[in-house]
Amino acid sequence: MKEKLKKLQEEAIQLIEESVTPETLNDVRIKYLGKKGELTAVLKGMKDVAKEERPKVGQLVNESREIIEHALDYAKTEMEKARRAEQMKKEVIDVTLPSKKNMIGHRHPNTIALEEVERIFVGMGYEVVEGPEVEYDLYNFEKLNIPADHPAKDEQDTFFINPEIVLRTQTSPVQARVMEQGKLPIRMIAPGRVFRSDEVDATHSPSFHQIEGLVVDKKVSFADLKGTLEVFAKELFGEETKTKFRPHHFQFTEPSAEVDVSCFKCGGEGCRFCKGTGWIEILGCGMVHPRVLEMCNIDPNEYSGFAFGVGLERIALLKYEIDDMRLLYENDIRFLKQF
Ligand SMILES: [Zn+2]
Repeated sequence: MKEKLKKLQEEAIQLIEESVTPETLNDVRIKYLGKKGELTAVLKGMKDVAKEERPKVGQLVNESREIIEHALDYAKTEMEKARRAEQMKKEVIDVTLPSKKNMIGHRHPNTIALEEVERIFVGMGYEVVEGPEVEYDLYNFEKLNIPADHPAKDEQDTFFINPEIVLRTQTSPVQARVMEQGKLPIRMIAPGRVFRSDEVDATHSPSFHQIEGLVVDKKVSFADLKGTLEVFAKELFGEETKTKFRPHHFQFTEPSAEVDVSCFKCGGEGCRFCKGTGWIEILGCGMVHPRVLEMCNIDPNEYSGFAFGVGLERIALLKYEIDDMRLLYENDIRFLKQF
């Protein structure tokens, strides 16, 4: 019996020493120490051993078990150590390599242009106001004197959430919201995102930005509007910039005009940038329609005002000479970094 145990123990130790993976070690454990293992079998064979011999054999079996267990643990620890050393070797850091630079973002041309416009108007005493992008039809159209049958309400242009709620097609509804509050006089600009169901191309996008301006006070005249927008154009495009007002039609202003600025590339002589005309269209404006004032509970006999709307992308494209609007929405850092 003693011989048999010694042989088992030697076999086990040899197998352990030959093991190269934790899996083979586990196989050895099961083969000798498991429920159906060889040492266990010896214990089960105790009934054939003389009664007085049994404690001694038991002790020998336990000793063998301890020796094998110890060898298994030792081998396992060594394997783990070797694995870690290997991993450390693989993950060694070469401190002489150039470091990875963190990518820092860049302000978007729209943001730069907006901050410039805000700076100009805040300097003239205007307040910056924001309104909801999901808007009631009432504010987006009705209160701006755009009746239910107006073509602008056609689904081709407007995203309807339901018959009463739209994605605002312009920043003008903020005008109506501010006027309704009844705090006069008003000097505000309202920048923000607007939505039209347009296909994407070099000059169109279903989502873009506008900046709305509104002044309501006693004795506000068209001369005030012209003077204000002249200052705005000079601040934005340079001291030499001239402005030209062309008659136009908007539902919520009367009279209405479109404003051109003299081309800041050629100074008005005509070039490729201004398509040879010397002028570049930048915004629409007009005197607030008396009906719009009335609908917002402002007495048109006492108060008058002017409003204007300018496309933020239009300014960014002009100011930074970008020829495709889509570039503004791709957010490619290599593009953005140029401004
Ligand atoms: Zn030009």
